[in-house]
Amino acid sequence: MAGDEDVTIIGGGIVGLATARALVRGGAAGRIVVLEKEPAVGAHQSGHNSGVLHSGLYYPPGSAKARFARTGAEAMHRFCAEHGVPVRRTGKLVVATRPEQLPRLAELARRGTANGVRLSEVDGSAIAEREPQVRGLRALLVPDAGITDFGAVCAALAAELAADGVEVRAGCELRSVRRDGDRLVLGTTTGEVRTRFAVNCAGLHSDTVAELAGTRPAARILPFRGEYYEAAPGRRDLVRALVYPVPDPAFPFLGVHFTRMADGGLHVGPNAVPALAREGYDWRTWSAPHLRRLLRDPALRALAKRYWRTGAAEIARSAVKPLFVRAARELLPGLRGTDLVPAPAGVRAQAVRPDGTLVDDFLVHEDDRWVHVLNAPSPAATASLRIGEDIADRVGAKLA
Ligand SMILES: Cc1cc2nc3c(=O)[nH]c(=O)nc-3n(C[C@H](O)[C@H](O)[C@H](O)COP(=O)(O)OP(=O)(O)OC[C@H]3O[C@@H](n4cnc5c(N)ncnc54)[C@H](O)[C@@H]3O)c2cc1C
Repeated sequence: MAGDEDVTIIGGGIVGLATARALVRGGAAGRIVVLEKEPAVGAHQSGHNSGVLHSGLYYPPGSAKARFARTGAEAMHRFCAEHGVPVRRTGKLVVATRPEQLPRLAELARRGTANGVRLSEVDGSAIAEREPQVRGLRALLVPDAGITDFGAVCAALAAELAADGVEVRAGCELRSVRRDGDRLVLGTTTGEVRTRFAVNCAGLHSDTVAELAGTRPAARILPFRGEYYEAAPGRRDLVRALVYPVPDPAFPFLGVHFTRMADGGLHVGPNAVPALAREGYDWRTWSAPHLRRLLRDPALRALAKRYWRTGAAEIARSAVKPLFVRAARELLPGLRGTDLVPAPAGVRAQAVRPDGTLVDDFLVHEDDRWVHVLNAPSPAATASLRIGEDIADRVGAKLA
């Protein structure tokens, strides 16, 4: 199928769809198409996550995460309300269970305040009043944190785009890129697409798409699986809203938390273990090229050296349920193994620099024809509508 587009977006996850929406609303982009390799939108990270609308607590002031999370969450609350997507402002507790976590809790409060997040510090009895099963010394109460269903957000975005005349071409995978004068020619599984500009929102494949486009990405994607359990029927009332541990500052993930989902279920997780394939949703799914890369890439060897202790503990908790339950009991002492049943996992696209450090902030790279989103981990779903506006501004500057 041949097409002549102004802007082509690779990836029908929440970031790609939000970018298309912002381009439509900006009004200057002309013909826009979204290419998605899977049969439906939101098939990977955007449809396999905790569904939490983050409030901007964790991120260094001034970072893109800090700038976009708070305003993005407000925009997402409005979008969900307008489009009939379930959304609730549940509030959340970040709970310190040991004295050595208190300085980190205080640092989180400082960051949150600097980022304009409404929060208050509460003591153990206030924690128990709000969440009777949870035990802790002190906690931050963040009233604006909430919950939604980002898969449903993707479906609503796709429906809105269809109504605006934007094609979301599912089952269409980008395989090659070449230039023809002032056009890019994108080779896909359903034929060639000619386009003036392109945006790479390919998530777990964003580095390989950048390479297809002739860019040497500043960081490569390392897939980290996040595994969940859910509360067995009859035990969903263990937690009322959102309960998080104090995160390890050396690690970009938030730690196993309790999430009251939009459908009323209670999820416990996610952990963070290296996936054996980019879309490796369980230990049985592996890819030989990915494993070869894991073993040979000096960046990943440096990463493994730095995090081997945390990584080994995470893998042990993944393999042995009682270890996972024991870790979760730190927040919820009454939790029993029989309370939890396995739930589907998600895989995070986390960018790693050549020196083995994890890219903490969102990372975007541009050239004359492309905008590449090279790192869009959590809270990118929360912030997606704002990220989309930022990318649309970058594309708009090229179109002008
Ligand atoms: C376990 C887990 C928990 C999380 N919890 C939260 C949370 O509570 N709150 C929050 O804000 N964020 C959370 N996140 C992060 C959030 O889900 C992601 O930041 C966000 O979904 C990223 O969206 P995306 O569009 O960049 O990527 P994706 O949703 O992965 O979309 C990329 C799309 O590109 C497509 N694609 C790839 N290659 C090609 C190609 N060559 N051609 C065509 N299409 C292609 C893929 O099929 C995919 O659909 C979580 C993530 C995980 C994994």
